[in-house]
Amino acid sequence: MQIAVLPGDGIGPEITAATTGVLRVASEHFQLNLRLEEHPIGHASLKQFGTTVQPGLLDVVRAADGLILGPTATFDFKDEARGEINPSRYFRKSLDLFANVRPARTYPGRPGRLGEFDLVVVRENTEGFYADRNMEQGNGEMLVTPDVVISLRRITRLCCERIAHAACRLAMKRRKHLTIVHKANVLKIGDGMFLDICREAASTYPGLAVDDILVDAMMAHVVRNPERFDVVVATNMFGDILSDLTAELSGSLGLGGSLNVGDRHAMAQAAHGSAPDIAGQDIANPVSLILSTALLLAWHGERSGAVRYEEAASAIEAAVATAIAEGRATRDVGGKLGTIAAGAAIAEILQAK
Ligand code: ATP
Ligand code: MG
Repeated sequence: MQIAVLPGDGIGPEITAATTGVLRVASEHFQLNLRLEEHPIGHASLKQFGTTVQPGLLDVVRAADGLILGPTATFDFKDEARGEINPSRYFRKSLDLFANVRPARTYPGRPGRLGEFDLVVVRENTEGFYADRNMEQGNGEMLVTPDVVISLRRITRLCCERIAHAACRLAMKRRKHLTIVHKANVLKIGDGMFLDICREAASTYPGLAVDDILVDAMMAHVVRNPERFDVVVATNMFGDILSDLTAELSGSLGLGGSLNVGDRHAMAQAAHGSAPDIAGQDIANPVSLILSTALLLAWHGERSGAVRYEEAASAIEAAVATAIAEGRATRDVGGKLGTIAAGAAIAEILQAK
């Protein structure tokens, strides 16, 4: 399996280094023949090539079997890199990675903020409020006068259908329970369509239980009873906000892994950002990106029919759980290890299996 590795900004290089360490052990242990090919992205690329995404990188990524994207610093795009490409948005769009799958769970020996749970947020990744955002006078946001901005939200039948089916398929592999999160009482047409299409899709999966919750009420429910949720499907921005909450409820934002998936490509990406406040200090939790790459391996295994990739993914997840239970983890989850040492602990547990 050929994987393009793009380390990114902020804590990106540190958590990526910890992740590739785990992948090298997994590759040997499970005979995955992983070929990791690293390329600069974001500010490292800007320095070297004068652009955040160098020409030709998309072809390299397309030719690979998977992509790991470290967090990139969106904030800085406002100043020195103004007008530059946002790598995350660029790859999601160019590769049509329409589903953002963000699991969140608690770990034995390290309870979450409020009780135990195991859920997955499936977030629509290509439209909604984030379609063509940050483009002045573009499709998403318009400067009407210097003092008035109108932000549009695009919801399409096709995107609702494909995200609905992606969520249903995942729910069928889990506890067969889908929750649709929306605001159809106010956003009657857009979220009304999203809700109808999700319900319609779900009705075609035998045995799948379906309910729906208004996004504001969901904030209370997920804090009060997170254990009642299995797979939660939401439009882009609601899913983005909800999944930060579920990651933090699981113990730390640094546990939040995610996979961006389309019909042909997938990109592992931590659910959080570049965390500039802790960058370069060897304290960031690498688990987010390690779990993201486990999702990537499982995806590749399922597609290619090579079971050992799925076995490797499960083993990595189990090694993460063991490391957390033993306190061999970073500070944010109660341990004392640095980023690299936390990654090495997971690699060591994996090797000993
Ligand atoms: P960006 O604009 O790139 O999203 P941000 O300033 O919003 O950057 P986030 O990366 O979204 O920062 O992180 C939000 C908070 O969570 C920060 O305080 C950060 O330190 C913390 N955090 C994020 N990722 C991790 C991690 N992997 N380990 C530990 N703490 C993290
Ligand atoms: Mg952020």
